[in-house]
Amino acid sequence: MAQDYDVIIIGGGIIGSSLAAYLASEKSEKLKIALVNSTNLGMMASQAAAGLLTPFQLNELENPVLKDFCFKSFEHFPEFLETITSVPSTKNIDFGYRQAGSLYLIFSNLEFAQKENEIKDLRTIEPKASFLSKVEVPKYEPLVTKDVIGAYHYPSEAYINNPKFLKAIYLYCIEKNVEFLDTAVKKLNLKNNTVENIVLDNGQTISAKKFVLCNGAWANHFLKEIFNTDETLIKPIKGEIIRVEALHATPLLQKIIFCSEGYILPRPATNHFETDSILIGSTSEEIDLEKIRMSHGTPLANTVSGISSVLNLFKKLMPNYKDYLIADYWAGLRPQTKDKLPIIGKIAELENLYCSLGHYRNGILMGPYSGKIVKDLILENHSEYNIEHFQIDRLLKPQGKEKLNRSLIPQN
Ligand SMILES: Cc1cc2nc3c(=O)[nH]c(=O)nc-3n(C[C@H](O)[C@H](O)[C@H](O)COP(=O)(O)OP(=O)(O)OC[C@H]3O[C@@H](n4cnc5c(N)ncnc54)[C@H](O)[C@@H]3O)c2cc1C
Repeated sequence: MAQDYDVIIIGGGIIGSSLAAYLASEKSEKLKIALVNSTNLGMMASQAAAGLLTPFQLNELENPVLKDFCFKSFEHFPEFLETITSVPSTKNIDFGYRQAGSLYLIFSNLEFAQKENEIKDLRTIEPKASFLSKVEVPKYEPLVTKDVIGAYHYPSEAYINNPKFLKAIYLYCIEKNVEFLDTAVKKLNLKNNTVENIVLDNGQTISAKKFVLCNGAWANHFLKEIFNTDETLIKPIKGEIIRVEALHATPLLQKIIFCSEGYILPRPATNHFETDSILIGSTSEEIDLEKIRMSHGTPLANTVSGISSVLNLFKKLMPNYKDYLIADYWAGLRPQTKDKLPIIGKIAELENLYCSLGHYRNGILMGPYSGKIVKDLILENHSEYNIEHFQIDRLLKPQGKEKLNRSLIPQN
């Protein structure tokens, strides 16, 4: 039977849209691709993110598998930028990608001793990384507190204006004939170990040869249904961010600044209509989407405690904090798995369903490379990167592994 599409991607954040861009960029095969993305669920994580591309920050990288994937993704990032800017509609967009470098501030000798233990091997990966003394820190970043004993400097770390970047990926996809459907997927219909079609919120049913789940923090609902499990495979971890602008003509922050409680980073103006600003982030709070839905609450509301903790961080890091006004604030949901590794690959029990989920705190960094990997899996059944640690099976209890939800699969 003829299918409506070659590939339907569910979820249009950085993960789904990077994949769509890669699939659409294939010169050898002209694929019919649909990107189904609901804009009714509130701000997606890919817009809420701070845009840090900072694989050297060890706190996130305790797991060597994650660390390796983040570094590979960091290396790959410029190649994707080149792809996205290769079409006329995106050629001249400045999406705020700056390899500005970062400072991790150290406030005490105890903290210094702990950090020294953690970063031993990093020096071998980043030869340009160095420890700056108290007197050197202001030379690299005059705006931050001098109340430190020093700072680690990682000159190659970068940031990007992720909302603009996402828009550029969309423009690229549009130019490459990806179809955008602004609606929610309500149901996946399974038959004979394949996804036969999906039902949309608007009542329409659409079919494809292959489907990919990229719906971030909302994916648990489908995974639970597919695997007939009560386990929470993807947890939504809420994060709140504040954007501030200088009241007067203050010079912009130069570097990304980290400390044990969070980060601040520049978000420079990328055209005449914008103002230079600074992002301050971020909180971390596990939430229960179902409970919030039942009580008619809003999962993305900013909280007094969240906003105040982020402001306290700004006060700690910036002695001239009184020179800034709050320009904006928001919240987003990071998709997190139990072991904080993503889920990337085909679902073994189904012939045509793939996942690219659970990118947690580093999805902007990992999105483009994940897109390339899933594109290769879909087209060549193979990827250059070893994804054995990213299989969904690792997260399922033994009985869940074979227990695909048979009730969803009418047997012929
Ligand atoms: C506050 C905060 C700061 C962060 N900072 C950084 C950072 O500095 N660097 C970094 O690398 N990462 C950062 N992250 C993490 C990063 O944002 C995420 O890992 C990444 O955006 C996840 O992308 P995604 O495409 O999986 O999900 P999302 O961007 O959330 O996209 C999922 C999309 O799927 C849609 N959807 C859901 N269900 C359905 C359905 N049934 N049908 C159709 N559509 C559906 C949603 O509406 C949404 O648009 C941050 C996250 C947060 C919240």
